[in-house]
Amino acid sequence: KENEYIEDLNNKIENYDPKTAKTTFFKDLPISNATLKGLSEAAFLKLTDIQRESIPVSLKGYDVLGSAKTGSGKTLAFLIPVLEKLYRERWTEFDGLGALIISPTRELAMQIYEVLIKIGSHTSFSAGLVIGGKDVKFELERISRINILIGTPGRILQHLDQAVGLNTSNLQMLVLDEADRCLDMGFKKTLDAIVGNLPPSRQTLLFSATQSQSLADLARLSLTDYKSVGTMDKA
Ligand code: ADP
Ligand code: MG
Repeated sequence: KENEYIEDLNNKIENYDPKTAKTTFFKDLPISNATLKGLSEAAFLKLTDIQRESIPVSLKGYDVLGSAKTGSGKTLAFLIPVLEKLYRERWTEFDGLGALIISPTRELAMQIYEVLIKIGSHTSFSAGLVIGGKDVKFELERISRINILIGTPGRILQHLDQAVGLNTSNLQMLVLDEADRCLDMGFKKTLDAIVGNLPPSRQTLLFSATQSQSLADLARLSLTDYKSVGTMDKA
């Protein structure tokens, strides 16, 4: 029954043309009932511009470079595709780390975590935060069971450099959120090292409020055959 449902979703996604569909409501997207329920309970009904432009492209499996100003709704633009990818892959607690979301600051990482807990309340994935503050050992005990991990660049790299704990071999999705801010904060080398550590078969979504040469460099390094969506303000 669930297999048929997922096959049906995959067909809908395949036949979905982002250019002609112009979807207004989340309920008209080819996404699972579990995510839809989480969205409607959080009173998210209509897509914002960046969500309308990017979510269908992300659902189709492309790498995405999304640019849109602060407050435009970029968090859901990547969280919905993350949840849907793992759902359609029938991800379980035994499959380990499926998605890695990188955010420049602890505060922003915590905000993403809270939105994820809200809209993911009808899915069975485990989510975790690694933002420092707690010691690495404390985080390590939990990290091996986490399906969706959100963290700051330094802390994520610290975990990747540990011999045990964070196994990225199954990783389906990498999200680089507020990538322009990560670069402004001096995380270029850290991001390069993280990206270099991850399996190349993954899908990557890179979101930013501004465009710059250093962002284009990061996009070239982290994305494959990507689609650009949103507004492209120069930094
Ligand atoms: P950004 O990351 O682009 O700065 P956020 O994802 O933090 O933006 O969203 C900004 C605000 O807009 C948040 O308060 C969020 O709850 C709200 N929001 C996002 N998407 C929607 C939507 N589709 N409908 C209503 N409110 C939304
Ligand atoms: Mg944001």
